[in-house]
Parts: sequence; C-alpha cells; structure tokens
Amino acid sequence: MTGITALHGEVERRRDRYVDTLRRFCRIPSVSGQAVPEAVEFLTTLLRELGAEVVLRETAGAPPLIVGTIRGASPKTLLLYNHYDVVPAEPLDAWTHPPFGAEIVDGRVIARGASDNKGELAARLCAIDAWRAAFGGAPPLTLKFVIDGEEELGSPHLRETVLASRDLLRADGALGEGGGRDDLGRPTISLGCRGRILFEMVRAGARQTFHSSLTSVVPNPAWDIVWAFASMKGPDERVTIAGFYDDAVRPTEAELRLLDDLRFDDEGLKRRLGLPKLTLGVRGRDAIRRLLFEPTLEVSGLGAGRTFDNSRGMPRRAVGVVRFGLVPHQDPAKMEGLLRRHLDAHGFDEITLRPLSERYPGKVPLDHPMVGAIIRTGRDFYRTTPAIYPVAPWIGAPYHELAEPLGIPLINAGMGSAESQFHAPDEGLKVDDYCAGIEFTARLFAELAAAI
Ligand SMILES: [Zn+2]
Repeated sequence: MTGITALHGEVERRRDRYVDTLRRFCRIPSVSGQAVPEAVEFLTTLLRELGAEVVLRETAGAPPLIVGTIRGASPKTLLLYNHYDVVPAEPLDAWTHPPFGAEIVDGRVIARGASDNKGELAARLCAIDAWRAAFGGAPPLTLKFVIDGEEELGSPHLRETVLASRDLLRADGALGEGGGRDDLGRPTISLGCRGRILFEMVRAGARQTFHSSLTSVVPNPAWDIVWAFASMKGPDERVTIAGFYDDAVRPTEAELRLLDDLRFDDEGLKRRLGLPKLTLGVRGRDAIRRLLFEPTLEVSGLGAGRTFDNSRGMPRRAVGVVRFGLVPHQDPAKMEGLLRRHLDAHGFDEITLRPLSERYPGKVPLDHPMVGAIIRTGRDFYRTTPAIYPVAPWIGAPYHELAEPLGIPLINAGMGSAESQFHAPDEGLKVDDYCAGIEFTARLFAELAAAI
C-alpha cells in the first residue's frame, strides 16, 4: 500500500513535466506517409533518457520501426506496441484550436494524435520514470517498446520487419494500443479484434457502351454482379459461400457471460443513423453478440452505367466490391479461394477478382494469466470493473503482424475517454486521464511481472 501511495504522489509531483512531454510530442506533425524524422528523434531521445537501448529497424519503403529495450529486475519481458504516426488533421477549419498546437482547453490537450495514440505512448514512457521515482531501480520486468511509423496506413511493413527482428523482439506478452472507455466511463480491455478482406469483382461486357434498343440481344454485365451478390447471402444474413464459417471462433460460455456486462446503445445508433431498426431487428445483447462474433458479408460498393460513369448508353462493365467481415480465426488469405470457387460454381466464371485490403483477426483466450493481471489492475486502480471485450468490434490490432510471428499474447487496455474524438477534428486527451494512465501502467508493470 505504501508503494502505491508513493507512486501516486510521484505522478502528482511530476504532473507538469509529464504533461509537457505529451504536448511536445503532439506538436510534431507526424502525419502518416510523410517524412517524420522529428518524431523518431523525439522518441529516441526520450527512450535513451529513460535508459533504453534503442534500435531503428529500417525496411525499404517504410518509416523506421523504433525498438527501445529497458532492462528490468526480471528477464520476463513485456512488449508495448504503439505508433508515432497520426491521421491527417484535415479539414483544418473544423478545428477550434490548431491541430498541432497542443493547447490545453478545459482540461484537455487538444491535438491530432493526442488520444490516438501519442497520449498512451507518452503515458507508458512516463510510467517508467514514475516507477523509478517511487521505488528506485529498474522496472519490475523488461520492457520492449515497439513503435510503428505507419499504423494509420494499416502497418503494411510491420510483419516483414518483425519477422526479420524476432530475436530483438522476443517477449512473453504484449500490450497493444489502447482504445478508450465505454459509455459508462469504464476502461475497456479487449482480448481480440475482428478482421476483414475486400475484393473488387469486375465483370467486363461489350467493348463499348451500347444503345438501349439492343438490350434484348446484348448481355448486361451489371446483372452478373447483382446475381453474384444475391448468390452469396440470403435475407436471413446467412452467408452461403461454402467453407466461409469453417474457422470462425465460437464464443465460450465464459465469453458469452461477459456480454451481459457490455453496453451497446442500439437506440442511440438508430437515432443517429435515422433507421427504424438494425440488421435482423437485433437489440441489446444480441446486437453485441453480432458485433463481436458474427462473420459478415457486405456489399461495400456497386457500380455500373449511369450512376457510375455518367454514361448514357447501357453499361459495358460492372464492378462490385464485397467485404468479408471476419472473426478470429478466419484467415483472409483463404477467402479468395472460397469466393472464386463459389463464383465458378454459380456460373460467374467471367467475373474477375482482385483483393483490395485485408486485416487479420486475432484473440487471446480469457483464461490467459495476462488477462487476469490486467483486469485486477484495472479494477483496483479505476475502482470499477473494466468492460472486457472477448473480441473487439473494431479491426487493426497487430495480431498477424506482431503477436503471431512472435508467438505471444496481445491485449489492448485503454485509457482514452468518450471525448477523445479519435480521427476527428478537436481530438484531445483529458489531462486527468493521461495522468491516471501513467499510474495505471506503472501498477500494471508490477502485476504483469508476477503473472507472465
Ligand atoms: Zn492508433
């Protein structure tokens, strides 16, 4: 208990300095896809001041992956994944304060990236300083910071870099970037995330658009796209592509019980979207179950003729984009074969397929010891039971890029708040949430040192 009091006192005493660290970081406009040597320099310096050995892993075409290792009292190793890139701030006129000014307004640091995810990264770094101040000596376990420079672009080179750096990155478990609080203000912990893959389907027809008087003898390629979509799913939402559900994880009894405790504002969503009902009329817990565990197939785009290219004739070409919403452990790489076989079997062999964008799902089992440690820390520190998502409805945690090649569990534990405005104008992070995040993370180090 004295240790915990000391930790709290040190975070309070150093509050201004910690907030200044965040603000300096936020003033660096490290927008994805642009040169960001300043952000790399900033983090490298900060990590070295904390006693880290820093290695920059360069992969052709990618900004450097920063790896900072801080030796702890135990060889047990926790990997902390974050990113230094941010999404663009545009439209700039929608901001009430400059996106890279990091002004503090009503207790929030306002900046692009303040919540996603410079605040979390800065808090994790400051947690090391706070630990040292409170307890002296090295942190209780070895920490490896892995800081991506292109997360907001989908981390296209991360897996390749990780595969080439397995010795450097060896660890016992990983924390992903956070997430936030739920509608009740509870911190959220997610043990997995969904995935997706999109395919562009193209049906070429006549060499040129043709006059509508010829429609009785010239086939219209748009029908093939429409019929192909119709063959893949019924009005009951059940996907009819053979093998589609084969690898999809089914929730365990314990995971289903967690759903009782989650909140999803289905009424609010309907109001916001102006809809009389949600898919299949689901509500409450059924809606949550669908959001987390139901694989889906959607029309993501559809185009031909007048609405598509403004042509007055009948279409010579039609395009559909199909989106597979995946759950753990469905493999995006398998989906192209399943879809191709389905199309051929239904007479749509003239439709060509091109994969557009994929993200892998992934998850950690509820009974993994790391999960218990994070829940305990969250409950003790925030004095409320965290909202635990056995699978989060969003995509993008680096299971395929980081956790799978290293063979370690990855869990997301957030510190943002409902007002974080991720990816939106006036993104910000409450100073109180940030400082709480520092203390929470330092406590987590101790719990995880004992658990992993
Ligand atoms: Zn992020």
